[in-house]
Amino acid sequence: SIVVTGATGHLGRHVVEQLLEKVPADQITAVVRDKEKAADFAARGVKLAVADYNTPETFDGLFAAGDRVLLISGNEFDKGRVGQHQVVLDAAKAAGVALFAYTSAPGSLTAALADDHRGTEQAIVESGVPYALLRNGWYNENYTENLAPVLEYGAVTQAAGEGKVASAARADYAAAAVAVLAGDGHENKTYELSGDTAWSFAEYAAAVAEYSGKEIAYNAVPVEVYTGILTGAGLPGPLAAILAGVDVSIENGELAGTPGDLSRLTGRPTTPITESITAALKG
Ligand code: NDP
Repeated sequence: SIVVTGATGHLGRHVVEQLLEKVPADQITAVVRDKEKAADFAARGVKLAVADYNTPETFDGLFAAGDRVLLISGNEFDKGRVGQHQVVLDAAKAAGVALFAYTSAPGSLTAALADDHRGTEQAIVESGVPYALLRNGWYNENYTENLAPVLEYGAVTQAAGEGKVASAARADYAAAAVAVLAGDGHENKTYELSGDTAWSFAEYAAAVAEYSGKEIAYNAVPVEVYTGILTGAGLPGPLAAILAGVDVSIENGELAGTPGDLSRLTGRPTTPITESITAALKG
């Protein structure tokens, strides 16, 4: 089987949808916490397995020898994600899976956010399980799903200076994961996945202005100010610090790499940020 964790998340849904176009449904297992959220997949013949990274025994017997696994990194920053991911890795190793793919972060990213990914990568490589590291760059949707305050205040506010982001749509990263899971020859490979083109927040603001017909400025603020804006909007301090740290990395060019691994794996250009902007404005 091809087994996908986090299957009811945003990225996981794209992965399962795209797998359904390539392999028979009964060869796909969606690992979910809540079966109700995956009822549509079950109705189409996808197998469901209920498991939680925080409860190791739920992964007992979940994998079989020869499975190809995609571990989608978790989003519970306060629960020790390396330990959570280790639970899945241990079960996969015990079963003797054929491939263990993991959605990681760019190798160039030094922000604190990357620490869990580096820790997980190390555990995977040291485990001896055949692996594929999918070092996902930033999603277009990180920005385009948060257009409401931009349109309301007429400003894109970030602490990234003139730094650029080579982002791509979640569907692009999902297509790369599907290419690896359903293809051959990806064992022990590391892919630096990113959009074909890097854009600055000034360019992003100009694009939002063009497509919305509103005046939108880029308001580049110092990192302390940005952290204050995020906590003021209700984000917990530690999370605000993590997000602000990403902007520092963006200013340093750590998310601007365009090696082309993503479009090579998928065989098509990545989705431009402008396309995600227009989709979000329509939605
Ligand atoms: P989502 O938050 O939509 O999905 C996260 C998935 O992880 C959900 O399916 C969730 O399950 C699952 N999950 C979380 N905790 C557990 C747990 N304890 N046990 C089992 N499953 C768990 O994120 P996306 O799909 O958008 O992105 C996937 C991952 O990529 C994120 O989790 C994060 O690690 C990372 N990310 C990357 C970004 C980038 O720009 N590259 C941006 C944001 C996140 P459930 O459906 O039950 O909630």
